[in-house]
Amino acid sequence: MPVCELCGKKVKVVYKCKACGARFCENCGDKNRLLCDDCIEYEEGAQGKYRLEQDIETDND
Ligand SMILES: [Zn+2]
Ligand SMILES: [Zn+2]
Repeated sequence: MPVCELCGKKVKVVYKCKACGARFCENCGDKNRLLCDDCIEYEEGAQGKYRLEQDIETDND
């Protein structure tokens, strides 16, 4: 029986993460995208790093 590398449980089916190569069960990732939870978090974290911080200085004399 394959073992999920994320939760360490023996499961019927594991999927191989296309990003990190970890074998994960259906509870530990997205089998449609072939991404484990770690990589999903990483991807979503990277995408969410847009910051709209602007220092607008106005010189009104
Ligand atoms: Zn798992
Ligand atoms: Zn992964």
